Amino acid sequence: MVERCDIVLKPNLMEAKNRTKQEVLVKTNEYIIKEDLKKLGLGKKYYVKTYGCQMNEHDTENIKAILEDMSFKETENYEDADFILLNTCAIRENVHNKVFGMIGRIKHLKEKKPHIIAGICGCMAQEEVVVNKILEKYKWLDIVFGTHNIHNLPNILSRSLEKKELEIEVLSIEGNVIENLPAKRDSKYKAWINIMYGCDKFCTYCIVPYTRGKQRSRKPEFIIEEIQQLISENYKEVTLLGQNVNAYGKDLDIDYTMANLLEEVAKTGIERVRFVTSHPWDFSDEMIEVIKNNKNIMPYIHLPLQSGSDRILKLMGRRYTKQTYLELYKKIKTALPYSSITTDIIVGFPGETEEDFNETLDVVKECKYDSAFTFIFSPRVGTPAANMDDNVSLEKKNNRLHKLNELVNSYAKEANDKYLGKIVPVLIEGISEKDKNKLVGYTDTMKLVNVIGDVSNVGKIVDVEITEAKTWSLDGKIK
Ligand code: SF4
Repeated sequence: MVERCDIVLKPNLMEAKNRTKQEVLVKTNEYIIKEDLKKLGLGKKYYVKTYGCQMNEHDTENIKAILEDMSFKETENYEDADFILLNTCAIRENVHNKVFGMIGRIKHLKEKKPHIIAGICGCMAQEEVVVNKILEKYKWLDIVFGTHNIHNLPNILSRSLEKKELEIEVLSIEGNVIENLPAKRDSKYKAWINIMYGCDKFCTYCIVPYTRGKQRSRKPEFIIEEIQQLISENYKEVTLLGQNVNAYGKDLDIDYTMANLLEEVAKTGIERVRFVTSHPWDFSDEMIEVIKNNKNIMPYIHLPLQSGSDRILKLMGRRYTKQTYLELYKKIKTALPYSSITTDIIVGFPGETEEDFNETLDVVKECKYDSAFTFIFSPRVGTPAANMDDNVSLEKKNNRLHKLNELVNSYAKEANDKYLGKIVPVLIEGISEKDKNKLVGYTDTMKLVNVIGDVSNVGKIVDVEITEAKTWSLDGKIK
């Protein structure tokens, strides 16, 4: 196996932390593919595996389109691929383990088929520790590129093929906004739209501000133009994406907020508008008003709590308290009583006591979330929380997670039970993978529904009568 290496750019944690007043450049011509590279993938297949959040899923849509611009064709089976790429996530250690497990499988495959090109990209590629590990143990990989380097994939790939060397190109910059990346969207009916990149919140446990650069909002006109294009292609739903969408606009040189953007997006007439993820700190009253006044903004809010203890919230650097969070929650529920609200919770943060954990349970009991993503704290190298004294035993963390999940699940079922017998609008997305006789779709409140109905309804928003409520899904039939 090839074990030489050409490091064009390695990640640098110190540089990734940097926040300056440097202007964000909006680049409308950054993605250029040279004529000779347009045929590079002719007769070859690619496979991209995505780990992590919706931002990553959308990055994968960009990567797939770039590869198809190079004449590669997609395969669903990595064993059939000539080019295998892992688009990775750095949020938790278990994803690291999964990625390195997959790299091990690719190694076996590459031993049988040495022509295979393999690489990693995404947030893990932005981590110094990961790239150092690759240089030490996995030098047989062919390419490593970062979240700021996606547009340059054709050149990175061609350099690696030419030199038969591991090619590393990872910029650790604050970042710019690249406007001309193509996308091969997974769905014909709903689309992810980046409205901003990066994050400046620096919650003490989170690696994202280091892997994705500073907060950079896209200009509203580019977002609206993209949505209008999607409407003309018959798309029914857009999800506005960002690490902290409620802070949208704060970095623009115009007076323009997330409330303004939501209003303007609603006016395009697209049938469904969603947005993730909301930091409670930036959730404004104006946003609540706009959601209330526009029927095509969906009544579904993801409002990460992380902890219900003021002491832990302060250690996490979350900038809100249990009380201010609950006030916001009540404000949203009063204005939008029909809305569903979900959350993220971390258990076992360094120093979390039983009392702290009980405060979290108190908030869950009060908010009765529709569902929650719950996690055990996972230290990320380079973040302040990774250096905090983690004195909570794994046994305690597991017990707390178990207790929390039982509570969360009971409220999820309770919330779903309220749908029994009701008629709700569902965007039918396709045929269920588990049961080919059923269709599958989501309500306006983001409830997964397995639906009995004709396949001609795929791609339409239809009225569905809910006939059964389970903890994580509903069953129904088209009215
Ligand atoms: S708001 Fe906090 S948790 Fe969310 S991406 Fe930014 S730093 Fe991470």
